[in-house]
Amino acid sequence: MARLATMSGQRRRRYAAAAPRTLSQPIQMHPTLVDIGLNLAHDSFDRDRSHVVESAVAAGVRHMVITGSTLESSRAAIGLARTDPHRYRATAGIHPHHAREFHAADVPALRALLLEPEVGAAGECGLDYFRDFSPHEDQERVFRQQLELAAELGMRVFLHQRDAHDAFMAILREYRPRLAGGVAHCFTGDERELRDYLELGLSIGITGWICDERRGHHLRELLHRIPPDRLMIETDAPYLLPRDLQPKPRSRRNEPKYLPHILQTVAECRGEAVETVAQATTHNALCFFGFEK
Ligand SMILES: [Zn+2]
Repeated sequence: MARLATMSGQRRRRYAAAAPRTLSQPIQMHPTLVDIGLNLAHDSFDRDRSHVVESAVAAGVRHMVITGSTLESSRAAIGLARTDPHRYRATAGIHPHHAREFHAADVPALRALLLEPEVGAAGECGLDYFRDFSPHEDQERVFRQQLELAAELGMRVFLHQRDAHDAFMAILREYRPRLAGGVAHCFTGDERELRDYLELGLSIGITGWICDERRGHHLRELLHRIPPDRLMIETDAPYLLPRDLQPKPRSRRNEPKYLPHILQTVAECRGEAVETVAQATTHNALCFFGFEK
């Protein structure tokens, strides 16, 4: 016991010398990561969901935020989160793709889901004019309905935006003073979008998009502009398999166990140690989504 205590004391001093930290930040020898965007309720995980989670945990991904994108998938996300509340949080919301199916009469059902203790943020919500699966008026209406609920319930928001920056900002600016906070999930935008988000006090979620040498190039240059207390990482699995992953899984399905690969790329782009980025992003995610200490 005494030897162990001495060893950990030495380690603590070595770490403290390498990077000054506040007492509230836990000292960890191995990175504990949080995947803030995982579609674990997706049916591609139906066959082997528990194995997917075990592999992620073995890779250091100890906590996961399960994304809800319809009433039904939000219910499923909450159900999964309930199986291990220490490990998971869920989001509850309506993705802009599904906005046309969401009506005023559904608002009370969404409100009830947001009040579940496993829910760490409202969303994913926002605007997507790239795919345009729902008419813009529906997308904007449903985005507003969710921001209104988040404001009313004092919740943070998990945000999605693609090819709709100006409309998105106009709506978000209206609600921002009443919102507890937000994260722009799967950020793939340009310098102006990043600046606008940071000015609004949003956090930024980075996915394996950054690992794509064709599409992720502009993003790599922007990464060092994100303050360490605003940065989080995510896989968006089963989507967005990091393109440079070697060897590639035959299924092409993304999994939370690949989060360390994204972490590594983010650290390289920022010119920081992997451990530094791991600790910052984990600390931010645990606070943002309300995990217990
Ligand atoms: Zn999204």
